[in-house]
Amino acid sequence: MIHVVGGGLAGSEAAWQLAERGHRVLLHEMRPVRSTPAHTTDRLAELVCSNTFKSTETSNAHGLLKAEMRVLGSMILECADSARVPAGSALAVDRDAFASAVTERITSHPNIQVTREEVTKLEPSSVIATGPLTSDALASAIRERLGVAGLAFYDAIAPIVSRESIDETIVFPASRYGRETMEGQGEEGAYLNCPMSREEYDAFISALTTADQFHGHEFDEVPYFERCMPVEVAAARGADTLRFGPLKPVGLQDPRTGRRPYAVVQLRREDRHGRMWNLVGFQTRLRIPEQQRVLRMIPGLANAEFLRYGSIHRNSYVNSPAALSPHLALRDDPTIFFAGQITGVEGYTESSATGLLAGINMSRILAGGEPVIPPPVTMLGALYRYMHEADAAHFQPMNANFGLVDDLPEVIRDKKRKREMIAERALAAITEWSERTGLFELGATDGRVA
Ligand SMILES: Cc1cc2nc3c(=O)[nH]c(=O)nc-3n(C[C@H](O)[C@H](O)[C@H](O)COP(=O)(O)OP(=O)(O)OC[C@H]3O[C@@H](n4cnc5c(N)ncnc54)[C@H](O)[C@@H]3O)c2cc1C
Repeated sequence: MIHVVGGGLAGSEAAWQLAERGHRVLLHEMRPVRSTPAHTTDRLAELVCSNTFKSTETSNAHGLLKAEMRVLGSMILECADSARVPAGSALAVDRDAFASAVTERITSHPNIQVTREEVTKLEPSSVIATGPLTSDALASAIRERLGVAGLAFYDAIAPIVSRESIDETIVFPASRYGRETMEGQGEEGAYLNCPMSREEYDAFISALTTADQFHGHEFDEVPYFERCMPVEVAAARGADTLRFGPLKPVGLQDPRTGRRPYAVVQLRREDRHGRMWNLVGFQTRLRIPEQQRVLRMIPGLANAEFLRYGSIHRNSYVNSPAALSPHLALRDDPTIFFAGQITGVEGYTESSATGLLAGINMSRILAGGEPVIPPPVTMLGALYRYMHEADAAHFQPMNANFGLVDDLPEVIRDKKRKREMIAERALAAITEWSERTGLFELGATDGRVA
């Protein structure tokens, strides 16, 4: 018997994948015995906020991830299709019809039993998919097993912009005082620096402190401590606060003027290939259109393409690069998988996708096989690579985006065409991969109960 803990998007998808491969599954969902601060029903796969799974177009990162999930046989997407409401090219759903469809599929599957109880321990042969609002008792058990740094209770996310959208005629590469912390970093310096004049800084602070902020639910209020203080809150403390904090210019000289700028916004590399750059210290609760408006005032970022927006939430998530295996299982027990938002992915589609792969891999391992991960030219494979290879010291949840995926071998200037080509390559790769790895055979028990 396999335990799936949490009947949200990831848990329901994982349970379905396992059951379809002939395994008997006990799905533990604590609602309605115990609820979360955001859920309001006892249904499985309740969507707690927006009713959209975002774009269906494969030239969009979320659309591509969904297309890959369809190749792998996602039950969640089948239910979403059955509950679809008109929303242009987005896959939006009637949330009641969607949750009812998932609940019906799961509860009527002969290999799945649903129990309504809170799980408080980690047991072998489990998929832990308890989401951003994992109950306190289970969160404590996870922390005990992984160590204090292994599980965070809040995210404080700074925006990420794509390298190709940064104006290289303005930003300059350098590390403060020329100091490098990584060997082999080269002469240039690890950071990209956006230099600000006094006028630019003053105008920026004024825009930042008056911009519209997101006010979340009461439970979502975060007790701010230094590492997750929103940049707009710090800025409101005084005109110079940021200039003496994350925007301090000391140790940096703009090679174009030969002088130290008045203030500097630093961008830190987010991935090994340097496609994604993180605005250091810019965790924020500004609304998305305000992030676009205000952050594009930063010199060098006028045309910034945001691959991830900033946010601050209550969010329980594992530091996956520090604590989990590449397929997101415990390092000391490969039969205890994590799936969904608790792994550090962000969003409905991403959460469902990791449930899908956890189900597939648990089945493979129990059948004596090896876990598999799609190649990093696919959105799913690239997301898993990020979860494993990201810098553990700065790890924050991540959504699907094209900065994660390997570049094309050739340079394509037309952005839309480039994404279409990446999508074509990804869909061909995931189809080939699923056939090559015998995804629909290995791990399956031909209806026999494992
Ligand atoms: C307030 C809020 C708003 C959000 N809005 C959006 C949005 O608009 N779009 C978006 O893409 N994402 C949004 N998210 C993120 C969203 O929660 C995830 O994308 C998605 O729901 C995660 O799926 P999951 O399966 O990992 O977790 P969930 O869907 O949360 O499912 C986890 C399940 O585990 C159960 N559970 C928890 N602890 C235990 C336990 N100890 N024992 C048994 N069961 C347990 C919970 O009751 C829940 O049913 C939001 C999150 C929050 C908190």
